[in-house]
Amino acid sequence: MNNYRTKYCGELLAENAGEEVVLSGWIDRRRDHGGVAFIDLRDKSGVAQVVINDEAVAHPLRSEFVLKITGRVRKRPEGQENPRLSSGEIEVEATDVEILNESSALPFQVSTALEEATDEKVGDEVRLKFRYLDLRRPALANALRLRAKVSSTARRVLDELGFAEFETPTLIRSTPEGARDFIVPARLSPGSWYALPQSPQLFKQLLQVAGFEKYYQIARCYRDEDFRADRQPEFTQLDVEASFVGAEDIYALTERLMGELFALIDIKLPSVFPRISFADAMNSYGSDKPDLRFGNPIVELTEYFKDTEFRVFQSDYVGAVVYPGGASLPRRQFDAWQEWARSRGAKGLAYVQFNESELGGPVVKNLSEKEREGLLKAVNAKEGDAVFFAAGERVKSQELLGAVRVEIAQRLGVIDRHLTGNTAPDTAIEDQLMKDAPFEVLVGKDGRKWSIVWVVDFPMFKSTALAKGEGDVAVGGGEWTAVHHAFTAPIDVEGFDKDPENALSDSYDIVLNGNEIGGGSIRIHSRDVQERVFRLMGIDEDEAQEKFGFLLDAFKYGAPPHGGIAFGWDRIVALMAGVASIRDVIAFPKTGNGVDLMQKCPAKITDEQRAEAGVDYEDLD
Ligand code: ASP
Repeated sequence: MNNYRTKYCGELLAENAGEEVVLSGWIDRRRDHGGVAFIDLRDKSGVAQVVINDEAVAHPLRSEFVLKITGRVRKRPEGQENPRLSSGEIEVEATDVEILNESSALPFQVSTALEEATDEKVGDEVRLKFRYLDLRRPALANALRLRAKVSSTARRVLDELGFAEFETPTLIRSTPEGARDFIVPARLSPGSWYALPQSPQLFKQLLQVAGFEKYYQIARCYRDEDFRADRQPEFTQLDVEASFVGAEDIYALTERLMGELFALIDIKLPSVFPRISFADAMNSYGSDKPDLRFGNPIVELTEYFKDTEFRVFQSDYVGAVVYPGGASLPRRQFDAWQEWARSRGAKGLAYVQFNESELGGPVVKNLSEKEREGLLKAVNAKEGDAVFFAAGERVKSQELLGAVRVEIAQRLGVIDRHLTGNTAPDTAIEDQLMKDAPFEVLVGKDGRKWSIVWVVDFPMFKSTALAKGEGDVAVGGGEWTAVHHAFTAPIDVEGFDKDPENALSDSYDIVLNGNEIGGGSIRIHSRDVQERVFRLMGIDEDEAQEKFGFLLDAFKYGAPPHGGIAFGWDRIVALMAGVASIRDVIAFPKTGNGVDLMQKCPAKITDEQRAEAGVDYEDLD
């Protein structure tokens, strides 16, 4: 190959025995055996064992030194093979060792062997501070390599389908997507600011007006949100848009694309993904991103308790989720569930235990004889199970039960064992949770379950007050704000503004294992419809013209019907890689508070920089 190497460490096989090779890499580990040093040399491909017979040569070598080794490959002595290494049948007897660079003592160990052998707990802070060292760990490095593979596969598929990759600006005018913008001062127009894009939404639509018809981009997006679990202030989308298409075309494209991506990890997704309506997803699973790797749907009991004397259940909505085998849980676990519910903003979590002879749990005394008798059947439980209830406002109660449902499956080890470390449940419990899964659940060779589904028939609008409660920035000052975004087409173009509450949008989300991994819509392409949507959202004509004049103008000049989708790239790769956080598939991520611990950023700027950038510029007129 070159002066540094003739082979990669991980490539060396028994058949290379006898060859002279040059290797370069890092010392993963060293061991000494009576005057002989064994070095595990690591490069991007893996590890090879190097034998150094000269003590004087081996003496100065330490972990993570960078070496160039010249040597001869030989088969390892019988019984000393290491089946965990691709090069485990051979070792390299060094004839020359050159130290290319030394390494200081490490803040934490990065060795391949250690990673497998121990679960040395190193604090996140120190890992992020020395991210370039953490990235030497094969697990993390492999996740990032998978990411590169996923991106190159997507590019290939989209190129094959006739899409072209475009870049859109990252210094833009702020686009409403429901989050806060990051803003950048414009030195050349003091007092004016750019925004970083929350997504390339309007540009991709304008590229349709321009006639390109098929666009994609692996785009960096920026959203200045308060802390939410596992979010990053900058993240990546695979952004797609096409002209003369309907939702079905976007489904087909997505199904092909996802199919090819998951083939990379040996999962054969169905060629057509099942669909569920937003309303069904909420009613049965308490989420607009239902986790359908198992069944155990929410059971609505509003009707069952319609004449109840129990005040708590005299509500707009009562629902329940079964906890298979839960009757035998100790009291303190149920207490812990109360805590869990409170940490999610609920008052608590009523429960009943179906013990063999009688019902248990504090709620029972409030139920009538008849209510007690029919309960087991009404919630579709069996003796030995427990059941959790939520009552009150419909959506809030459903969301609580939806979260309970997933938590139960996780605690029972039916899903996410690779993340939780929980053990697999016994077959009866597994069967009970799986039996009413609505669609086929795929199981990979490693035992991970997969379920992908389209969520469709979303409402077009939600009340502005609700959106604010969710921490979103409501766009427009009206009663209604868009569920997807302001550029999404209504299904009923004629009538949507007569009944905004019930209007549906031509939009779709793609949900994998309870994660929204993408979403999009067919767009409005007529100036009139766009203006009517803006009006409903309380964006008046002047404001619309001021903020989106360019889009409304573009719609005057023969805008084609168009639509698209954007995929959450970090999340997709994290799911495929089986890691808990999107951080593990981003080379240089930030903490949950948006801090880069390595660069120590965000950071103060100098007074000169402030003045020059016009940060403190005061508009005097
Ligand atoms: N721009 C949208 C988003 O970021 C996706 C889309 O509608 O294509 O959620």
